[in-house]
Amino acid sequence: MQHLDPEVMSLFALDEPVDAGSIDHLRSCPECAAEYAALRRAVNAVRTTPDAGSLERPGANVWEGIHQTLGLSGSVAADPLGSAGAEEAPVTEPEPVKTRNNVAWLRRPATWLAAAAAAVVITTGVVVAVNQTVAPVPLASARLEPLDRFSATGSATVTETSDGSRTIEVQLDKTEARGYQEVWLIAPDLSRLVSLGIMNSSSGRFDVPAGLDLSGYPIVDISDEPLDGNPAHSSVSIVRGTLSS
Ligand SMILES: [Zn+2]
Repeated sequence: MQHLDPEVMSLFALDEPVDAGSIDHLRSCPECAAEYAALRRAVNAVRTTPDAGSLERPGANVWEGIHQTLGLSGSVAADPLGSAGAEEAPVTEPEPVKTRNNVAWLRRPATWLAAAAAAVVITTGVVVAVNQTVAPVPLASARLEPLDRFSATGSATVTETSDGSRTIEVQLDKTEARGYQEVWLIAPDLSRLVSLGIMNSSSGRFDVPAGLDLSGYPIVDISDEPLDGNPAHSSVSIVRGTLSS
């Protein structure tokens, strides 16, 4: 879904006119509605300033920073509150759409507020993106128990990041393969299996194939594979465990 442009969101928060499509989207999209609510609080906080006339005019470097951060075009590079900007309308009374022209609009404090609000949205987006990158959600885990003549034990944990990609992290207390270790996901009846890759040490991290239904392949298995060039499971498993959430 295409979410609302930060600029449109800012206009919303400032009670500026926006197109009907954007209004429909805001009504039906919880994410944009939440963003709008946050912006709205910021705007209200600014608007409740008792006497806007006593506020200091920001220096040109402030606009420069906003201009740069938002990647605005060169046509609006000049400080809109610079020498010519003597007749701003009050923040609480936006001009009617019909009489607005670009220059007047740029000189109004509301423009600043919109730009600042957009900067908040962008910053928030970056923070959220960073958080999502560093905090994958655990989906399932398995205790790995030794089979037959082996004695290694370990664990496997599946996590999912915000973009839906899944990773399985495997830990063993030792390596016991005579050949090399290969990590598999196997169906409950052992009839189907997916190789996740080679694990040369006692731990490893593997991508889970996108779209693979883990409930159909809940068994984590680490096999001892001879260097015989045969890609199939050797049928010698070192450890095995079943994922549960
Ligand atoms: Zn949205």
